[in-house]
Amino acid sequence: MKIDVIRPALLPATSAFLAKQHKLLIDGNWVAASSGGTIAVEDPATEEVIATVQAGDRQDIEEAVKAARRAFETGPWPKMKPTDRAKILWRLADLLEQHSDQLAELEAIDVGKPLKKARTDDIPDAIAVFRYFAGAPTRLTGDTIPVSSPGDYHAYTVKEPIGVVGQIIPWNYPITMASWKVAPALAAGCTIILKPSELTPLTALRLAELALEAGVPAGVFNLVTGYGDTAGAALAEHRDVDKIAFTGSTTVGKRIVQASVGNLKRVSLELGGKSPAIIFPDADLDLAIAGTADAIFYNQGQTCTAGSRLFAHSSIYDRVVEGVADAASNLKLGHGLDLKTTLGPLVSRKQRERVQGYFASGREQGAEVVTGGDVAGERGYFVQPTVLAQTNRNMRVVQEEIFGPVVCVQSYEDDELDAIAKFANDTIYGLRASIWTRDLRTAHIMASKIKAGGIGINTHNYAEPAWPFGGYKQSGWGRELGKDALDLYTEVKAVAAKLS
Ligand code: NAD
Repeated sequence: MKIDVIRPALLPATSAFLAKQHKLLIDGNWVAASSGGTIAVEDPATEEVIATVQAGDRQDIEEAVKAARRAFETGPWPKMKPTDRAKILWRLADLLEQHSDQLAELEAIDVGKPLKKARTDDIPDAIAVFRYFAGAPTRLTGDTIPVSSPGDYHAYTVKEPIGVVGQIIPWNYPITMASWKVAPALAAGCTIILKPSELTPLTALRLAELALEAGVPAGVFNLVTGYGDTAGAALAEHRDVDKIAFTGSTTVGKRIVQASVGNLKRVSLELGGKSPAIIFPDADLDLAIAGTADAIFYNQGQTCTAGSRLFAHSSIYDRVVEGVADAASNLKLGHGLDLKTTLGPLVSRKQRERVQGYFASGREQGAEVVTGGDVAGERGYFVQPTVLAQTNRNMRVVQEEIFGPVVCVQSYEDDELDAIAKFANDTIYGLRASIWTRDLRTAHIMASKIKAGGIGINTHNYAEPAWPFGGYKQSGWGRELGKDALDLYTEVKAVAAKLS
């Protein structure tokens, strides 16, 4: 399959940012990595190097943690008037908005995602998250406790910032994932060290610049670009880090838990998924087919909540397979910056090889390739959007997270909701599920039976700053977004005073 990879001109501000000498942000200063190492950042659609960033490692993490500790213990941030902290977060959101065209281009060229989506989804979503959490500092209240002997005791709780927080994020939604972590942590009064993915560090660097401009004090927001097994591991192990918030694969999530044992730091994890989308025979099929196709192909399938297991009742199975395959064939592959593109490349050569491995495995284990099933284009990390039919629970493609535009369709005969839920719950993950039906009873009974942190009814990859996000089972620990996110960044202190 040939692809015309047309890379339109960038805004001057984007080109200037790419050409910069990027550094690490430690204690309010931009500094080079102590090892002198650098990382080349690629455009995944053309394989060209577009920027160079620092390869921070253990020594740089050491300095960043020291700065964050100082800022937490003696700096103004945790003690600041809540309205002042709120103002700075709101100002940061305004600055992101002012620079949203540049940010959208950086995100599109770094990840490979369609610019149109970066403009309408990734950047506005990140801005909305900063605005949502700008409302939090003034609402971080504890409780007055109804004591057993009123008059003898007065008891209450206070929510205090947890301290120095390490935040490690993946490459699929770089600025969105940064906003989910940075905004609630700063709102709670914590100080942070953010480590973006080595593959996609660009918007995190721009976010850090804008945070300084918004008035976040030195040492509060530190940024170390670097590899996972050096900078990331050093942060996860560090004994003066009070908490690690991690988003990434389940495999690395388990390493984070092991690394946290030294000082029993708090850990929250947003990990992988293999989310079911279940279409019932009574569903609005046009809506369900378009919605479940988007659930898997959005962001090239590199979405933790992607609807990668599609269940269709046997009476509608053929129509669903045909409809999703048509939707796949209608996607326009190309450079993310090309406004005609609806499916960009995968993020890296390694990711493309991983997806190719699953094409082979699916074929070997007897899946029917209805459409796709191969790489695409002569350069860039493109793969064809792929529909695998006649799949079953014993196949690796059905059990493992592929993280590419590959959907496994399975049919079911059963009309018993218990049996359907059991079928849908049959993986180690529990991040998201969607239920496609016109029947309220089916929708809500299924919502109660599915073991997942998020359920969509006639929608799949829904996200919203106030809607908690996270996973059951091996999809993670804790909930980001919404008021639950503040629990990740606060300790509860209980105070009792004897009055009599
Ligand atoms: P990854 O686990 O390879 O890397 C994630 C981050 O961890 C990167 O910054 C990486 O440098 C760092 N890292 C790697 N090894 C490390 C180590 N030993 N110690 C500390 N840090 C380390 O994941 P990825 O490939 O960047 O992202 C894809 C994965 O992320 C998928 O599994 C996807 O489902 C998951 N994800 C989950 C969510 C969610 O909210 N549940 C959101 C987005 C992505």
